[in-house]
Order: sequence, then structure tokens, then C-alpha cells
Amino acid sequence: MSDRKPFVGGNWKMTTNRTTAADLARGVVDGLLHVDGVDVAVFPPFPYLMLVRAILRDRSSSIKLGAQDVSNFADGAYTGEISTAMLKDCGVQVALCGHSERRHVIGEKDELINAKLRAVLDAGLEAILCVGETLDERLAGHQDIVTARQIKTGLAEVPGDHIDRLTVAYEPVWAIGTGKTATPEDAQDAHRQIRVGLQRLYGDRAERVRIQYGGSLKPGNAPEIFAKPDVDGGLVGGAALIAADFVAICRAAAGRRPMGGEK
Ligand code: PEP
Repeated sequence: MSDRKPFVGGNWKMTTNRTTAADLARGVVDGLLHVDGVDVAVFPPFPYLMLVRAILRDRSSSIKLGAQDVSNFADGAYTGEISTAMLKDCGVQVALCGHSERRHVIGEKDELINAKLRAVLDAGLEAILCVGETLDERLAGHQDIVTARQIKTGLAEVPGDHIDRLTVAYEPVWAIGTGKTATPEDAQDAHRQIRVGLQRLYGDRAERVRIQYGGSLKPGNAPEIFAKPDVDGGLVGGAALIAADFVAICRAAAGRRPMGGEK
């Protein structure tokens, strides 16, 4: 079994309000108080970052504070954008880059995602690069080509000494928020291909990069997906909005057991 520590992120997307964000944060912190063996991050909407930060701090929690997106620009006349410096100022430690909703709803391209990722890593923050194919791409048999392109372009000009702060999230677009999940075997195959792509860029260092699975993870399906050798935790949307479910998924990652063809 690899010695990569599992990492689970909870993406709250554009949900919650001041009250429910605070309740959710408290529920997650309290539920994970005595859980070791997994790194955890929560990604609240921007307006609630400071609120959630205060709750994490009050309870001396090791849960990381995450941002769902970030600007590729450093500062200046970019109305509506939020810089890495602002995120750091608010206590953010990790940022998502290229979430499928940013790619396919907002229209972000690989090149912009690469610029954002470099901004995050250059600023000393951790980054999660999200990749994954659409249903059409999968049906056309292009899954590996798509994720290979997203990895190669997304990581262009990212130096090897930055990748200890990199996580990749494999999130097949057809599985996000749909209730459909990749089988554990499909997830393992995709994660293995992604690791091969990382190896081409970074050699042996690629073994240290964590690859999360995302797409309708639930307490019921997480254990068998997390048991696969190249699956190092998950990125969770819907189930991250219910503290007990998110805590159960984090516990499943903490207690993962290798199964099914360790490579
Ligand atoms: C996500 O938002 O990254 C995600 C995987 O969502 P869900 O768990 O709802 O599919």
C-alpha cells in the first residue's frame, strides 16, 4: 500500500448561508475530532471563508480551509476576481483549479486553469487540479486522451519542486452530482493513467502526488473506491453538505484498506 495519506475535500459549491455554513463547519469539526489518518479540507463559498476559518481556529482543528476558485492575476483592475494574496490573508491553505463546473459551466479552458494553478503554487498554497471526461468523451473512448491533455496542459511550466503541494482530483463529469459513480475498477484505471501522465512529467516524484476521486461519493460507496491503490481519498460535493455523511466519508478514507491489484 502506498504511504500517501488520504485527502478528502468537501466542496460546498454555491450553497449554504451564514447560519448553515457555520452549522456545517461545526458539525464537520466535531465529527472529526478524534479521526486521524486523513487530511481534510472544506471549500466554503468566498463570503463565508472568514466565518469558517474562525470556527476551525476556535476548535484548533487541523481541517484545511479551501477556496473553490482563484484568480490567475496577482492584483489590480480585475473586477470580481480574488487573488492568491487575498485568499492567504483570509487563512486559505488550498485552492481548487479547474473544477468541472468551472470548465463546463463557466467555460474555463486548460490554459487559464494552468495559469491559476501556477498562481496558487507560486504563492505557496496547495492546489487541487480537477480533471475528468464528459459522458460524450467517455462514450467516444477518449477518456484517457482527455485526462492526459488536462494533466499535461494544466501542469505546463509547473516545476517539480512544487508538486509536493499538488493534488489531482479525477472527477468524471458524468458522475458529478448525478448519483452515478465510476466503478472502483474504472476509478483505479483512470487514476493509474493519470499517475502515468504525472510520471512522464515528474518521474518518481509522481508517486507522492495524491489523486482524489470525485463523483457522487457517499458513505455507502466510498470504502470500496478508497480501497483502490491509486485512489488517495476524494473530492465530495453533495454529501459534503451533510456533516454526518462527510464525516463518514472521511472516516472511510482514514480506514482504507488496499484491495484489488496493488500496483
Ligand atoms: C464535486 O463537486 O466535486 C463533486 C464531486 O460533487 P458530487 O459529490 O455531488 O458529485
